[in-house]
Amino acid sequence: MPVAPNVSDYDSLYAGFSWETEKAGLSGLPNGQGLNIAYEAVDRHAMGALRDHIAFRWIKKDRSVRDCTYQELMELTSRFANVLGELGITKGDRVFAFLGRIPELYIAALGTLKTTAVFCPLFNVFGPEPVFQRISRGDGSMLVTTKDQFEKKIRQLLERLPQLRYVLLTDAEQDESGQVRSLPRLMEKASAAFTIPTTAPEDPALLHFTSGTTGLPKGALHVHKAVLVHYVTGKYVLDFHPGDIYWCTADPGWVTGTSYGIIAPLVNGVTNIVDEEEFDATRWYAILEEQKVNIWYTAPTAIRRLMRMNISPREKYNLEHLRLMLSVGEPLHAEAVTWGEKTFGMPFLDNWWQTETGGIMIANYRSMPVRPGSMGKPLPGVEAAVAEVTDDSFSIITEPGKDGHLVLKRGWPSMFRTYLHDEERYNKCFRGDWYLTGDLAKRDADGYFWFVGRADDIIKTSGHMVGPFEVESALMEHPAVAEAAVIGKPDQLIGELVKAFVVLKPEYQPDEALKLDITAHARRKLGPAVAPKEITFIDNLPKTRSGKILRRLLKARELGLPEGDLSTLEQP
Ligand code: ATP
Ligand code: MG
Repeated sequence: MPVAPNVSDYDSLYAGFSWETEKAGLSGLPNGQGLNIAYEAVDRHAMGALRDHIAFRWIKKDRSVRDCTYQELMELTSRFANVLGELGITKGDRVFAFLGRIPELYIAALGTLKTTAVFCPLFNVFGPEPVFQRISRGDGSMLVTTKDQFEKKIRQLLERLPQLRYVLLTDAEQDESGQVRSLPRLMEKASAAFTIPTTAPEDPALLHFTSGTTGLPKGALHVHKAVLVHYVTGKYVLDFHPGDIYWCTADPGWVTGTSYGIIAPLVNGVTNIVDEEEFDATRWYAILEEQKVNIWYTAPTAIRRLMRMNISPREKYNLEHLRLMLSVGEPLHAEAVTWGEKTFGMPFLDNWWQTETGGIMIANYRSMPVRPGSMGKPLPGVEAAVAEVTDDSFSIITEPGKDGHLVLKRGWPSMFRTYLHDEERYNKCFRGDWYLTGDLAKRDADGYFWFVGRADDIIKTSGHMVGPFEVESALMEHPAVAEAAVIGKPDQLIGELVKAFVVLKPEYQPDEALKLDITAHARRKLGPAVAPKEITFIDNLPKTRSGKILRRLLKARELGLPEGDLSTLEQP
């Protein structure tokens, strides 16, 4: 039976939307004691009809599976909350997790939220220095990690982290000291019953560091009220229906893996698949088939890798359960959207948001015609616009098709409440009622938003403003191109010269003839002023752990400048 989309008519939903009305989909803490993310995600379901429904299915690296019902999850997270209480962790304290995608990570996240302490996930692949930076900047009181990570990366940091009161090891049988404790032992002793304390909707809940694509990662602080956005986007963008099986491929080390790899699916009561392993095309297709995934949320970097592999998944795998595919994190090239249609029989639906927004802000909806290359339309309840911004002026652009700064009217529930230890920078993000996202976009006559580039990446060449995305998209349409990244290189004559780094598909050889052919293709598509003047073939593009192309690093290397903060650089 086809499943009717939750958004049947975007325009009327948008026009009649109210956050207040949507709140009815949440429960609130019993006796009017506020709003707590973990209660909405876990306890209310565990005490209701979803008690025995699978909340998480964790797939281990060896492909074995562990299921956890809402009821079991309530007990485990309550135990964890009691462990924190025993150790004196209280409201507002920061609890860090430095774990792979194993059950303890999810239990720690939700258990911490129950206590009103603040949870901060770290990418498991970080080296000691990025971990140190984040725990010290984030004033971490507790760290949950494994024995192996502790020995390799953390022990050496303890002296420099005097505020870190406890390290809990998920796989240690015995306590090592008063500070370094065995989590299983503590969990065993703790009670499985926990009453969530009064939680104000404005109480801090999550600390997320940004991806570090444009510079030093910033610590964005989010509050419990954000859960309203997780709920609403789960319903309207991810289109959750009862009984759905959902898979978000993001790691909780960045915001997607928490907002949409933990909170949104649970709040909406669906089954959340987690795979411990890193990207692997055939494994991924097999998971889609075996787990009967209905909704799949992934990222452009993964989609481009799948595109490169040339597998026809529908010929080899039974993907009949798949109803919806979504993408976030970077611009999704039109090419990728149509590849989705060709390969899976449905487009990838792009959506836009950032660490600071806490949840999806602009999206393509199942029922809305997709314009490949567009990010879609604002979430109901969110006002987005394009603005002309200078140091001392701000005005909304009403003319369709004109580039400007992407801005959001402040006040959506999951808006970040500060940059940790950098209030000044936070304040600079606002102009009156508007939040400046740092991205450039345009809006077409029908209200679709189109990504132009990050404000930092815009290239000024011969009096034109060129967004890298436009050039990269055109390059991607050439049959030999697997991936491309475009930067501006200072040039005396024309200001900046458009330079492209191109990764070829495996079956193509880099040579002058191909370079000329790609250049000619780009010139036809973009015109000579915008097309790259220089092309360099490269084996891999430098990326963040969350899969974003690090154009600033390509540029720094090209110009022989310092490489800046590389804590989130993915090592190929
Ligand atoms: P930093 O702020 O540290 O430089 P970052 O901005 O990459 O890192 P995130 O908050 O993880 O950190 O990423 C949000 C950014 O990712 C957005 O501001 C935007 O530039 C880009 N982005 C996310 N989704 C999309 C999308 N659908 N289309 C285009 N860009 C996107
Ligand atoms: Mg950013």
